[in-house]
Amino acid sequence: MEDIFNQQLNFFNFIEKEIDNNRISHAYLIETNNYAGTDMLIKEFLKYLLCKDKRTNQSCNCKICNLIDNNSYPDIENIYADGNYIKKEQLIKVQDNFRNKSNYDNKQIYIIWDAERLNSSSANTMLKFLEEPEDGIVAILVATNRYKVIETIVSRCQVLSLNATADNKLSDNEQSICDILFSFNNLFCNYDNLLSLIPDRVIAKDCLKSIENAVFDWVKAKKNSYGLSLNQLINIIDILEKTLNKLEYNVNYKLAIDNLLTDMMEVKNEKVGNLC
Ligand SMILES: [Zn+2]
Repeated sequence: MEDIFNQQLNFFNFIEKEIDNNRISHAYLIETNNYAGTDMLIKEFLKYLLCKDKRTNQSCNCKICNLIDNNSYPDIENIYADGNYIKKEQLIKVQDNFRNKSNYDNKQIYIIWDAERLNSSSANTMLKFLEEPEDGIVAILVATNRYKVIETIVSRCQVLSLNATADNKLSDNEQSICDILFSFNNLFCNYDNLLSLIPDRVIAKDCLKSIENAVFDWVKAKKNSYGLSLNQLINIIDILEKTLNKLEYNVNYKLAIDNLLTDMMEVKNEKVGNLC
């Protein structure tokens, strides 16, 4: 467990200061950057919020901390996407539960996992909660990257960014895929080349996920890789995410790759447009 504290010193230093100064926000967005220890880190964060004795990286054995460790603290609600999206009804249900439930006379916390899966309807409900926060209710939104979350929500949250566990280095194969996708040279002529690099769904999912992470890094570092603008890179993240969803939900493989190329062509056109 000490690893988590060592790997995420900034995060925990910040949290400890917030608690010491009694400055708890009503909404946090944790940008995980694919940090592998995110689940454990959130549990430690919950202990800081709920246990009065938890003020250092030392473990605490009180009833509250034990309940948190066992996922059985009653006033913590976890919200996961129902299908592709987090639904508005899920958010309303949690708020209703909090209103009715007797509690430990302590904070009530809801955690929205994969906050990038808030769609426009659930995001609107979420915005209402964020604009009129109720005392004692804390929202924790968890997302791989802040750029994937609807902007109006991000702007109402305290954003805390975790250190990535390791650099998002691309393999030679992934680099070749990037060369095809991002240099836009004869995208459709390179269709067969692309398919030889990602011959099936499983390999494609792996490669596109790594490439998506690399693009996140470029956006963060404001690095115009392949001469792409920040806006284009953000569009590419959207496209990759859309493709990964299709691959996950068993859309016909060749059709998914075909759509990927068509969408990339639109990014290319934007590039041409910018030059004119
Ligand atoms: Zn405790």
